[in-house]
Amino acid sequence: MEKKSKCVICNRIIEGSPKIPFCSLHTRAYSNLIAKYGEWKNAYGDLSPREFLDRIGSNEYSGRWVKEVVNAILFNRELMQVFLDDLSFWNRRD
Ligand SMILES: [Zn+2]
Repeated sequence: MEKKSKCVICNRIIEGSPKIPFCSLHTRAYSNLIAKYGEWKNAYGDLSPREFLDRIGSNEYSGRWVKEVVNAILFNRELMQVFLDDLSFWNRRD
């Protein structure tokens, strides 16, 4: 029997078995976050993932969904690891 998982942020039931335990809405915010890191790193030069998360989390213009994702990552070591892996995958320069 398939185990249903829930979004760690909002408890919505997750369809399928994504590697990161977010619902579709939070997954979308998460993808935007990954893309934004690339942009910010270009704009600010050297920016660590944690500094990036702190800035997004405290920016009044960040959307609610993104802030929830940022908080989830900052307080969950496993999510942080997935986030760091995704960052290095998507922002890798060949
Ligand atoms: Zn969610």
